[in-house]
Amino acid sequence: STNVEQREFQAETRQLLDLMIHSIYSNKDTFLRELISNASDALDKLRLESFRNKDLDVDTSDLHIELEVDKDARTLTVRDNGIGMNRDEVVDLIGTLAKSGTGELRQKLREAKDAAASEELIGQFGIGFYSSFMVADKVTLVTRKAGEKTGTRWESSGESTYTIAEVDDAPQGTSVILHLKPEDAEDHLFDYTSQWKLEEIVKKYSDFIAWPIRMEVSRTTKSEDGTDEVTFETKTLNSQKALWARSKDEVSEEEYKDFYKHIAHAWDEPLEIIPLKAEGTFEYQALLFIPEHAPFDLFARERRTGVQLYVKRVFIMDDCEDLVPEYLRFVKGVVDAQDLSLNVSREILQQDRQIRAIRRRLTKKVLSTVKDMAAKEPEKYTKFWREFGRVVKEGLISDTDNRDTLLAISSFDSTASESEQTTLADYVERMKDGQDAIYYLTGESRQLLESSPHMEAFRDKGIEVLLLTDPVDEMWVTSVPEFEGKRFQSIAKGDVDLGTEDEKKAAEAEREEKEKEFGDLLSWMKETLDDQVKDVRLSSRLTSSPACIVGDTFSMSPALERMYKASGQ
Ligand code: ADP
Ligand code: MG
Repeated sequence: STNVEQREFQAETRQLLDLMIHSIYSNKDTFLRELISNASDALDKLRLESFRNKDLDVDTSDLHIELEVDKDARTLTVRDNGIGMNRDEVVDLIGTLAKSGTGELRQKLREAKDAAASEELIGQFGIGFYSSFMVADKVTLVTRKAGEKTGTRWESSGESTYTIAEVDDAPQGTSVILHLKPEDAEDHLFDYTSQWKLEEIVKKYSDFIAWPIRMEVSRTTKSEDGTDEVTFETKTLNSQKALWARSKDEVSEEEYKDFYKHIAHAWDEPLEIIPLKAEGTFEYQALLFIPEHAPFDLFARERRTGVQLYVKRVFIMDDCEDLVPEYLRFVKGVVDAQDLSLNVSREILQQDRQIRAIRRRLTKKVLSTVKDMAAKEPEKYTKFWREFGRVVKEGLISDTDNRDTLLAISSFDSTASESEQTTLADYVERMKDGQDAIYYLTGESRQLLESSPHMEAFRDKGIEVLLLTDPVDEMWVTSVPEFEGKRFQSIAKGDVDLGTEDEKKAAEAEREEKEKEFGDLLSWMKETLDDQVKDVRLSSRLTSSPACIVGDTFSMSPALERMYKASGQ
């Protein structure tokens, strides 16, 4: 090879590699799942590219993944004849922390105090290719991109540098050659040169992979004269059965979980597994997952994975945003549609009636799953809401069709409990006689809200107030008119009537009395504060503070005003 160049890893990548090399990660076997998952993605991409680009001169007649063992050299090679990478891609994708392009993981890794903390982070993030360094002390990657002539060779022993070079004779696709750690040689648990071991791992983690995963295996038989005879044959290790096409009771929980890890590029477990099928005019199968943890980039605009679209078992695209609404963007999974063209583009999908029908059904199904969860598994629901509530609430604004269901599955902090959130239904249950509105206050934190002067009268009268602290709360409370006939009323705006009819009458009489008494003072204050306030009134809301500022019923809340100002409006 020519042109060998040595480069430095970024600091965070080095830190990650260091962790991998000294991994005490309980389950080292998962490196193979990661490499096979990458190979499978590369094959999907090549097939798609060859559909789209008729000039691409590649042979796609035998797309597959191959495992090759050299016991003497102690190497394991994972090879695919997929899309491959060019030099720039190798530098970008392999040489830097791939999916953690988001600054957040880096930041967190930098802050992580010890190995255990970092391992937990890795568990949440997934580290894909780098997991090779759990089992190898040197990794060589040789790759050539489909349609290009020169290949690239990347090599690193996981310390501070890697080398990169051009190669002339690389086959199209990618080979990852793992130089297995010598210290694992004696340990049969980590014998990644054993065909049994490899077969077991593939069966366990990658059985559903759509492409054949092949390996040459030896078979020992007794020949007629009693001596051992060794023959070799190529064996396909995985069953290649699409999980979403199989019926629910044929698939084990473990299989579902491993599939989730593959498509979501995740290392956590799914909180909920949702298979569904539609027959008839629009035939499709779907398999959706609600993850256990919210990803770090939930609020970043360029997320990569979401729901994948397949057409008749052929992978078409990642993160098909037309299949689920924005506010369910944390849902992972696949949809396999039978009647779409393999040539569909994102533009066509937006207009497609079938896609819209699928989207409606998936949305309803996810929401009803959460509703069931809330009814039957409250703890799980609480966990779900803690992770995803602030995203789901975006739906209260954007998805008017499902608003009732969304309101039914939403929970909020409230003055009724320090630790537990309440549903609106429970709030309504606890409403006082004569109370006709659901009271809330929005702001930055629970602490701030609780010390607000607006709170005093409500606390005194024992009237419950929802404490809304997510940015999205500002938006939905003004666009959702009511829940079960009860309107939402900010306690910081307009007139708030508290108490029963009799109490109100008594309070009114008292106020008129007082207004006479304080008439001079009020008009003096109004004149003095003319530029700053619209009106000065006596109030029954305060019990210990002398005064507070309130908004008009229809004016913006201070927080919303800040939001608009911040966005330059
Ligand atoms: P992820 O798979 O989550 O993106 P990885 O670390 O596993 O993260 O891989 C990083 C990137 O490197 C992949 O997204 C892909 O673009 C590229 N890559 C890895 N393995 C292969 C391969 N066998 N063929 C082509 N590209 C690959
Ligand atoms: Mg990967």
